[in-house]
Amino acid sequence: MKLNEHFFELKSSYLFKRIAQEVGAYKGANPGADIIRLGIGDVTRPLAPAVVAAMQKAAAEMGVKETFRGYDDDGVGYLFLREAIAGYYAQRGTAVDVSEIVVSDGAKSDLGNILELFATDAAALIPDPVYPAYVDTNVMSGHPIVYISGNEENGFLPLPDENLVTDVIYICSPNNPTGAAYSREQLRAWVDFANAHGSVILFDAAYEGFVRDETAARSIFEIPGSRTCAIEVCSLSKLAGFTGVRAGWTVVPKELADSAGRALLPLWVRRQTTKFNGVSYVTQRAAEAVFSPEGLAQCRENLAYYQQNAQLLSETLGKLGIKHFGGKNSPYIWLKCPNGLDSWAYFDYLLKEKNIVGTPGEGFGKNGDGYLRLTSFGTHEATEKAAARLLAQ
Ligand code: PLP
Repeated sequence: MKLNEHFFELKSSYLFKRIAQEVGAYKGANPGADIIRLGIGDVTRPLAPAVVAAMQKAAAEMGVKETFRGYDDDGVGYLFLREAIAGYYAQRGTAVDVSEIVVSDGAKSDLGNILELFATDAAALIPDPVYPAYVDTNVMSGHPIVYISGNEENGFLPLPDENLVTDVIYICSPNNPTGAAYSREQLRAWVDFANAHGSVILFDAAYEGFVRDETAARSIFEIPGSRTCAIEVCSLSKLAGFTGVRAGWTVVPKELADSAGRALLPLWVRRQTTKFNGVSYVTQRAAEAVFSPEGLAQCRENLAYYQQNAQLLSETLGKLGIKHFGGKNSPYIWLKCPNGLDSWAYFDYLLKEKNIVGTPGEGFGKNGDGYLRLTSFGTHEATEKAAARLLAQ
């Protein structure tokens, strides 16, 4: 048996296992404890009614001979959905052609699969801290990784460094876990850098729905010059609560090509149509409904709900004098553990003294140590209770 040795280079994904163990042990010893989980990255609000209605209608169509659908012949997503996605960009003044949109079952799959387009020795620039899937997918496929430091000095928004030139550049904005979002001006520096060095930016816009600052970008394609250097991966998981439904998309501009002029879009379409048979019709109709005026308004109500939680947590930390980032353009709040505690020590303090569960920052990279991530995906009631407990002496 010849195994892929790179799997053995992966760091064990102990973060959530250890959290579960520690919470389980505490619960075992304190069965009556009312534990509030502010560590989860999963949404809790139900799907928008317009989305549910579209799913029900599509499911009924599938049960009728005349409207039944089999394989999606295009393999890249039904035109009705790609038009709805292009319309979503157009509403914000960003031009994306339907032929550049490839629908998938979510951002995580695309982020992993897109690496097949690049040579094994193509190096990746990955911010630290960040969503751990970038590192793991690159390790699995043997790509060299170069880290770029996100830290307090740069507001967790590192800018290009001439000493760190790679083939692929990951940008996650708004960022998981820090909640920091790049301004258009900052992204322009990345776009110019990528164009100058022939690098390709993989822009993860999974949290674009949370952007509130006028100066922050919601898509890399808002930036002049991005069409020759960037791919955007996006998701309905957070915008529309599709974590359990599964839908997302990737935009590969027609102009994006290597130095020999070979375009990436046909490669991505070929990859997807060879190895993936598309997203279910029912899900694609549900996704289409997200972009209807009614669907978008309902999804935005859910985002506003989470944003209220984020604001309350941020205000609470402010009152306590705890330094923190994010929470404004993101569901995540990234706090600096007080009194110089490391991530796990502060996690332990919150669990045992306040019965609140956060996510130790160390799980998102070396630079995450000394930080902890709280999320706003809980209920108002739980978040208010957590805020009161934090403030209580
Ligand atoms: N990108 C980031 C930054 C995320 O935090 C997540 C999920 O938490 C994903 C992508 C995955 O999205 P999806 O549910 O569409 O696979």
